[in-house]
Amino acid sequence: MEERVLTRNIGRPGSETLKAYRDSGGYTALSRALKEMSPEDVAERVTRSGLRGRGGAGFPTGKKWSFIPKGTGKQIYLCVNADESEPGTFKDRLLIEKDPHMVVEGTALAAYAIGCRRAYIYIRGEFVHGARVLEGALREARAAGFLGRDVLGSGVDIEIHVHRGAGAYICGEETALIESLEGKRGHPRLKPPFPAVVGLYGCPTVVNNVETLACVPHIIERGPEWFASLGPPNNGGTKLFSVSGHVSRPGVYEVRMGTPLRALLDEQCGGVAGGRRLKAVIPGGSSVPVLTADDIDVALDFESVAAKGSMLGSGGVIVMDERTCMVKAGAVVARFYAHESCGQCTPCREGTPWMERVLWRIERGEGQSGDLELLLSMCVNIFGRCLCPLGDAAAMPVRSYIQRFRDEFEYHIRERRCLAAGGFS
Ligand code: SF4
Repeated sequence: MEERVLTRNIGRPGSETLKAYRDSGGYTALSRALKEMSPEDVAERVTRSGLRGRGGAGFPTGKKWSFIPKGTGKQIYLCVNADESEPGTFKDRLLIEKDPHMVVEGTALAAYAIGCRRAYIYIRGEFVHGARVLEGALREARAAGFLGRDVLGSGVDIEIHVHRGAGAYICGEETALIESLEGKRGHPRLKPPFPAVVGLYGCPTVVNNVETLACVPHIIERGPEWFASLGPPNNGGTKLFSVSGHVSRPGVYEVRMGTPLRALLDEQCGGVAGGRRLKAVIPGGSSVPVLTADDIDVALDFESVAAKGSMLGSGGVIVMDERTCMVKAGAVVARFYAHESCGQCTPCREGTPWMERVLWRIERGEGQSGDLELLLSMCVNIFGRCLCPLGDAAAMPVRSYIQRFRDEFEYHIRERRCLAAGGFS
């Protein structure tokens, strides 16, 4: 069931080196594209492949590239979003540290397709090792002629720089990332205008996730039809899932889109650790609605997970067994978003810490009747009423924890203690 496309080199000695990457056929896609294809051909292949953004939103990549206006005379920029700060998500980090040349080649191909001469990889500040590995890969790629002026004698210039962030979750939001890259505080911008029209330094800009771009060399090399055939309609390719929590074998797994969540957990991850019963699963990073144990026959593709009332998101799967206190789990998640709110809009700035306070009060056995209605009304007043998706990211999990585990919340308020056998760990 495991399908190793993006992870094919991982585990091999020296997988981060140019030699190892070239030994596995690396940079042939870039060389072929520059010799045989126009930028439009590359973009058209990516569109036909059905590749959708792997950072969380699942927006079609080829369509995103098509929004760049032509003939404005302005610089065009590509920003690689390597901020990966969503709790439970650690798959881009693996690609960056273990196969950085695949990320570099994908970035160069995307830059070629959109007419960008200067791309930036915006990497989370805590990823010190990853930033160093990327810098090393860029040096090797430049020395070998895959980057810089006149790449491989094609007449095309492509330069890529690494920029380290300062470790703020909000800088994973594309307009906050752009602000931060410009040297300003990472505050999301009001949209429209969208970055495709007014992005970095006021110029047309595409922001793509690391895993998204890592797919591009494979699409060029093996064809869009092959990539599309790896998953259900409109969900082409494989997907990396970072699995954590109460499973026997946590880690990063690459499977075809559409693989059942149950198969990922039982066959790849060895099931729930200690033979305990499954209680809940977050399928796409801590910001998405939680699923119950009854939901895990869902296929892991964007539409199927949405039909279950959650989101595929970033593929950060967090597994919780029967000992987990869902009130405490909800409070921990709420604390994260309250801490990461940038404070620009009132519902998010005031609402997220308020939600956190009420959740902890219930968890401590000090909940009051009406607290659940209060929390749900806060979710209504935050969701869709903020400048950026962080507000939704804070409201969605809280609402789903209450809706799907309401008995547990009510027990906490009524009995002033926890129904679950253990704590959230
Ligand atoms: Fe900032 Fe929150 Fe508003 Fe986003 S939703 S801009 S994080 S205050």
